[in-house]
Amino acid sequence: MTQEQMGTLQQELLKTVGQNNFKAWIEPLEFADIQGGVATFNVPTNFIGNYVSQNFGDLIIHQLNAIGESVQRVHFRVANTPAQPRVTAGSIAAAAKPAAPAAKVDAPKADLPGAPLDARFTFDSFVVGKPNELANAAARRVAEGGPVSFNPLFLYGGVGLGKTHLMHAIAWELQNRRPDLNVLYLSAEQFMYRFVQALRDRKMMDFKELFRSVDVLMVDDVQFIAGKDSTQEEFFHTFNALVDQNKQIIISADRAPGEIKDMEDRIRSRLQCGLVVDLHPTDYELRLGILQSKVDQYRGQYPDLKLADGVLEFLAHRISTNVRVLEGALTRLFAFASLVGREITMELTQDCLSDVLRASERKISVEEIQRRVAEHYNIRLSDMIGPKRLRNFARPRQVAMFLCKQLTSRSLPEIGRRFGGRDHTTVMHGVRRIEELRSSDGQIAEDLELLRRALEA
Ligand code: ADP
Ligand code: MG
Repeated sequence: MTQEQMGTLQQELLKTVGQNNFKAWIEPLEFADIQGGVATFNVPTNFIGNYVSQNFGDLIIHQLNAIGESVQRVHFRVANTPAQPRVTAGSIAAAAKPAAPAAKVDAPKADLPGAPLDARFTFDSFVVGKPNELANAAARRVAEGGPVSFNPLFLYGGVGLGKTHLMHAIAWELQNRRPDLNVLYLSAEQFMYRFVQALRDRKMMDFKELFRSVDVLMVDDVQFIAGKDSTQEEFFHTFNALVDQNKQIIISADRAPGEIKDMEDRIRSRLQCGLVVDLHPTDYELRLGILQSKVDQYRGQYPDLKLADGVLEFLAHRISTNVRVLEGALTRLFAFASLVGREITMELTQDCLSDVLRASERKISVEEIQRRVAEHYNIRLSDMIGPKRLRNFARPRQVAMFLCKQLTSRSLPEIGRRFGGRDHTTVMHGVRRIEELRSSDGQIAEDLELLRRALEA
């Protein structure tokens, strides 16, 4: 392509996609060559490559043909800039997310059957708060690649709380610090798939050798092999072989080892013998921190965009389900605002995200509060709601009433009715009593905080 053609192409694209999109997506592209009908561009990250291929791929092909090139396909290749974690042969394939059919993003090939790593999932981009500080610290320790101190590291927590992010971060970090190590990251499903394939192809020896030759094995979402008996068995042997050789193993699951059903006891106890840390549900501060860090990242892509005060706080408050949903909401908001060229105000936010906001509107019920409180104080639900006046029941009952007043929109008479038909003055008295105790009794204050968090999670 000549300079002149290049200029024309850029002008045309700018006209079609607009200033913001051009700056964010087209400018970072570096033309490499055209061969056999395929135009190749270098891109700084897979994310940009994927986005451009999905959103502007056809447009670029069209414009290239319009300026006289014969192109059927565009291809985006991640340039190996120093900012990009490097991947050595024999380790894991680099970040390639599934691309649109029209174009593919290249990843360096590797020998080991690992899963691709997401270039965005690094320690730098992981926001640390109270709910995840332990998990983060443990992950960082393992990522130093020093002597194996706890084996396995078992990370667990609900959907979208950052398990995969932390595992990829460990893998990237290890590749930088200890390029000599063979690091293998894969999901439990991929492990199972490999295993079944090896059985089918009668290549079990190769399979065993391969997995036993790694220095660090990471298996994500291990709950998926529960109930799959022969896969579990093989996993157990691999696991033991590696532990015996003092190789590091890192496992994640959506629940604690003891709570994974259909997992053999010996495997379960093996999983528990290292360090088990959980990622707690996010709290408001962490959510706000994550949003702020995302906004900083977006500034590069959308330099002209304005964000009104209070929008991030609103989102952190309202979307408490999981980080993936939170991120998705922000991405949508920025894309939408840039498209219509407007400031991100509260109004625009509510408009653009009405479905997400509605879905995450979680109503806490009186029943839920009663159940939680009874569990917390180790008493029977019937005793808490029933007529007994024993102190052991009366105090939890008052705590539950207080929480109902605070966390639901029920009136005092309504609450009274659900506590065995008590009078509203009884409820009022209970609520007041707990209010007083909250400031004088540290234990009560702590109980309330714990319960509130658990209910709002
Ligand atoms: P999980 O594997 O636990 O289901 P992921 O690791 O896939 O969750 O996280 C979901 C999304 O949320 C990812 O895009 C991830 O980058 C993001 N995320 C989760 N926790 C954090 C955090 N503490 N800081 C920044 N991003 C986070
Ligand atoms: Mg995950």
